[in-house]
Amino acid sequence: MIAVVTLIDALGWTYVKDRPIMPDVLKYRNEVRTVLGFSSGAIPTLLSGKMPKDSGHWNLFYYDPEHSPFRWVRWLTFLPKPILNHRVTRRVIRVASQRMSKFGGYFQIYGVPVELLPYFDICEKKDIYRPGGVPSSLFDQLEALGVRYRTYSYHEMTDAEIVRTARRDLREKKYDFYFLYLSELDAFLHSQCHDAAGVARSLDKYEGWLREVYEEARRTGEEVAFFVLSDHGMTPKRAGYDLVGQIRPLGFEMPKDYLSLYDSTMARFWFFNDRARKQITERLNELNCGHILSAAEKRDLGIDFPDHRQGEIVFLMNPGVLIEPSFFGTKAPEGMHGFHPDDPYSSAIFLSNLAPSRRADTLVDVHEVLHEWAETLSNGVHAQR
Ligand SMILES: [Zn+2]
Repeated sequence: MIAVVTLIDALGWTYVKDRPIMPDVLKYRNEVRTVLGFSSGAIPTLLSGKMPKDSGHWNLFYYDPEHSPFRWVRWLTFLPKPILNHRVTRRVIRVASQRMSKFGGYFQIYGVPVELLPYFDICEKKDIYRPGGVPSSLFDQLEALGVRYRTYSYHEMTDAEIVRTARRDLREKKYDFYFLYLSELDAFLHSQCHDAAGVARSLDKYEGWLREVYEEARRTGEEVAFFVLSDHGMTPKRAGYDLVGQIRPLGFEMPKDYLSLYDSTMARFWFFNDRARKQITERLNELNCGHILSAAEKRDLGIDFPDHRQGEIVFLMNPGVLIEPSFFGTKAPEGMHGFHPDDPYSSAIFLSNLAPSRRADTLVDVHEVLHEWAETLSNGVHAQR
């Protein structure tokens, strides 16, 4: 018996609901509730079975000036802002910070203003597709169980190369558990989710790849457990909204009075005095483009970090309404994820050829199903010995 898991970034339930992927093989199909946020939160939950508060992985940047890999950047903040935030300076700062801190994970600074970087740390310090990348992840479990496995991700290869390499390894019967992470559909859907014909062509391409991998797995002569998963969906853009333009006129200064990170679907705030806290909160409460997450909502979403490192206040935009401009760009993309998991477009998928041991309704369930497969494989391995 072997297991082949393919995680396709952003392949949401809305895209496959009426356009089944390999329906002759993948008979078990499920809509999966994602976790609020981006891949940086959803994939660690899928890999570890823990919600963000417990995995420690949510949005990439969180408030922690003492451990910031950008602490050294403080020495540069005497430079005029246009120089500090010039494309070339930003690149140098990103590369130098990554080298100095020896991070092997997902290291991006997007458009976060350089003068704010020294206040933030990054949660994806290690490659999450390796053991130790996320606390007690599937890969730690596979190691502990003694299952021969391999992961394939963008850290080493393009999607096409991943498919090719996995097929080669299957042909050579190298492993018992294969984990393929295909990330390129995400970028395509961000820019072209409105283009139905283009989306259809893209799905055809991925289905073709999945079939190639499946056929190769079958040729090993082993029984194959075949899973196709995703981390979240993609919500088409309805409108852009200048949230920064609502906050800036209040006249408070960063980083003296407060800090704010404008991700594309949410804004997070940390306050250093009560006046800023009160007035910014009041302003946010007047807006109808989104809402401040209540304590109960944060708990329900698994993002109730007790030290507020992921934001004292999280202001979440309504589905389809993007913060524009944001730290991710002056112009928001045509599609985005990171809205409330209740938005149907947010849902991820679970597809399999064999009946799962339990219903995979959430990313935590998906982890449990995979973990149980890893145990089954391990028992098989030990029985053969
Ligand atoms: Zn994305």
